[in-house]
Amino acid sequence: MIAIIVAGLSGTLVAANLLRLASGPLRVVLIDRRLQPGRGVADRTLFPDHLLNVPGGPHGCVRR
Ligand SMILES: Cc1cc2nc3c(=O)[nH]c(=O)nc-3n(C[C@H](O)[C@H](O)[C@H](O)COP(=O)(O)OP(=O)(O)OC[C@H]3O[C@@H](n4cnc5c(N)ncnc54)[C@H](O)[C@@H]3O)c2cc1C
Repeated sequence: MIAIIVAGLSGTLVAANLLRLASGPLRVVLIDRRLQPGRGVADRTLFPDHLLNVPGGPHGCVRR
């Protein structure tokens, strides 16, 4: 089991990639003060007009 303390953008992406690349069963626990993972200060906006300042593609978080 792996515990990741703080589950904003970075912690959640680490968890996703650990699970994606795991060669066997793996349990990952995210610990954060907020209930919804991946929603750090920049990513929890409720306004659809708040966009990334760059195209999303080059900032991809999963190696292809
Ligand atoms: C307004 C704004 C706009 C941005 N726009 C862009 C952009 O357009 N493009 C770009 O590339 N980057 C942008 N960024 C930068 C981007 O937010 C960061 O690079 C990225 O979100 C950092 O991820 P992180 O996981 O470090 O932090 P976050 O995603 O912010 O996550 C931090 C986590 O820590 C948790 N936490 C904090 N304190 C505690 C505690 N005491 N106990 C438990 N949990 C805790 C929070 O709840 C949160 O889940 C922007 C940042 C801001 C503030």
